[in-house]
Amino acid sequence: MALRVGVIGGGQLARMMIAPAVELGLDLRVLAESDGMSARLAATAVGDYRDLAVVRAFAADVDVITFDHEHVPQDVLRALVADGVVVHPGPDALQFAQDKLVMRARLAELGIPQPDWAAVHDATELQAFLDAHRGRAVVKTPRGGYDGKGVRVISAAAEAQDWLEGIAAGDALLVEELVPFVRELAQQVARRPGGEIVAYPVVETVQRDGVCAEVIAPAPAAAERLTEVAEQIGRTIAEGIGVTGMLAVELFETDDERILVNELAMRPHNSGHWSQDGAVTGQFEQHLRAVADLPLGSTSPRAPWSVMVNILGGPTEGTLEERFDAAMVDHPAAKIHTYGKAPRPGRKVGHVNVVGDDLDDAVYEARATAAHFA
Ligand code: ADP
Repeated sequence: MALRVGVIGGGQLARMMIAPAVELGLDLRVLAESDGMSARLAATAVGDYRDLAVVRAFAADVDVITFDHEHVPQDVLRALVADGVVVHPGPDALQFAQDKLVMRARLAELGIPQPDWAAVHDATELQAFLDAHRGRAVVKTPRGGYDGKGVRVISAAAEAQDWLEGIAAGDALLVEELVPFVRELAQQVARRPGGEIVAYPVVETVQRDGVCAEVIAPAPAAAERLTEVAEQIGRTIAEGIGVTGMLAVELFETDDERILVNELAMRPHNSGHWSQDGAVTGQFEQHLRAVADLPLGSTSPRAPWSVMVNILGGPTEGTLEERFDAAMVDHPAAKIHTYGKAPRPGRKVGHVNVVGDDLDDAVYEARATAAHFA
């Protein structure tokens, strides 16, 4: 019988695991939040991932559980593990992608370079951090943020008053120095339960309004030292916290060539979509190999450059698919990936990958293809 991989969450990341699962001969099953989700083709159950009974029933019919997002509560995950369910990544690792304060404390223990940070409980502590950092800082809600929601640049504690008031007893906000980065990078690695690790080349990510807009692989003009340091950071974190599956480490590069860790994701990540068409083993296949405990695949690029451009929002009228003809005729070398989601301003509804020998050409082609869907 084929190994049954259960994915909790029915978004585009689960959707993009479907094709590689078919190729690997895995039986992919998805617990979707509702009908009509991106991964509906593989959805065998619909229900609330915070409800232990729902998750338990789903887990009873699979050999390994993995994720499309990191929001499954710790107590649900720990109950599964106690039941004997194989969960990758496990709750001990996943907690560092669920809570940014827990992550910062652990990265400090591992000696990983990161922005100055503090846990603050009230306006006095927040103001003290601001005063010690030239009056500007980034305040973050430790849990539940994504795509820049839950991140605010402030110059006075009062600007975070609503969040400070919302802190539950015993909880805190995360405050970080405002890093004067020259660009953002991402390092991805995959780790198997037994410890085997492979690393992808470090990539440059471009965010607009807190949302990933474009990725270039590998990061242009990256010095050899920077590439090595990024890979070492990825490997050290994956080993240090026992990640199984894909790990994405979001990084800041400063003007004095330091790299600092921003945050972690333990699943396929937007910064790795290029690898579907630009690497020998795409991140969705690699994640499945790792969580199914299969030998990992080559991460070598297939071409000197890969460019990924997100389709954000989508057409204001009609569906993405209605735009296929024109996009495909104009850009036959572009690979278009759609998520089966209704267009909405700012929403990630698909992306375009272009690979090639010339970076400028690839950037142009990818942007021009994505523009057909605006
Ligand atoms: P999310 O979890 O919503 O993705 P992040 O912590 O990754 O939030 O922050 C979103 C964006 O905000 C980052 O990609 C970066 O552009 C900016 N940012 C976050 N932290 C800092 C910081 N300490 N200094 C400067 N910019 C930051």
